[in-house]
Amino acid sequence: MDLEKALRTVEIEPIRSLTFAEVGQIVQNFSQRLTLAFPNSELKLANVMEKMFECHMFLADIPDNLGNANYFYKTQAIYFKLNANFETLDDYIVHECIHYFQDIRDEKRELQRMGLCRFREFKIYNMALNEAAVQYITSKALESKKEEINYGGLTIKTTSPKYYPVLTSLMEQIAFLLGDDAVVESTLFSTDRFTFELMDVIGERNFNKIQSGFDKILEIRQTAYEDIAKQESLIANEYIKIQNILIQEYFKGALVFVETKDDANEYKRKIENFKDYIKDYDNLKTYEKIKEKQLEKLSKKTISINKAKMLTVVKHNIFIDLFRKLQEWIFSEEYKIKK
Ligand SMILES: [Zn+2]
Repeated sequence: MDLEKALRTVEIEPIRSLTFAEVGQIVQNFSQRLTLAFPNSELKLANVMEKMFECHMFLADIPDNLGNANYFYKTQAIYFKLNANFETLDDYIVHECIHYFQDIRDEKRELQRMGLCRFREFKIYNMALNEAAVQYITSKALESKKEEINYGGLTIKTTSPKYYPVLTSLMEQIAFLLGDDAVVESTLFSTDRFTFELMDVIGERNFNKIQSGFDKILEIRQTAYEDIAKQESLIANEYIKIQNILIQEYFKGALVFVETKDDANEYKRKIENFKDYIKDYDNLKTYEKIKEKQLEKLSKKTISINKAKMLTVVKHNIFIDLFRKLQEWIFSEEYKIKK
């Protein structure tokens, strides 16, 4: 009864459960797309399908302002609009299926985590980071192409121009720097890898700044503004600030982890290709400055890596020479005579 009441508060009215065939179609499409998009991750088709088959799915009357699919955490079920297409799947369906997949409960069935998002008694943490990561994964699963959009006077590249375009664009940049594995693992299996790996490079203080910047974007977006241009420019402002932290802090922090020639090449590739994400004039200026400084530091570091390598080779040779000489001496006639 409580759950029905809760459903009414979000104006969702279930009509009927989906048939086994309908559920099968969604589960198969979703699981295949997800596992194909991230072949190097821990995702296994059979495991994803097994978990998704446990989800209750309903056709429902859903208000127009909500999407084709809605995961409701209180009932742990997904509600689909009558016109939802289970064959091709859209952003809403994939996004909401991921929400079901990432839902973690304690023994009392209280919600603990959803991917990057943590639920505590009085506060929810990392909500916006999680939404961005879920949409980033959704876009990849649907093979959405990157598009340039104008937003609040800014040009932004995003794989999700209609749904969380700004947050998704920022998550794409973080995923480019950190790699997909950390994003996928922490978003789908609710682990701390994403947080710790990013914190390791940029530090806790900067991580918190990024996290609250994401929350601010979500908050502005969910607030009703009469002046849409004003709302978009406030969001664009937060976008620039977060991108600036990534430019200023990521490459500085990541240089510490460069230990081999391969690391150095990877670092160079990242710093050079990151330019592709920056369309704002001031951020571009900052980026060029940081890039020049960091590449200079990198070349010094590469020289010392090479020197260290040469030293080990030389040391190694001295050791071998000594050993050989000793061997020769032991087995020499002289040695036998002395004995
Ligand atoms: Zn969501």
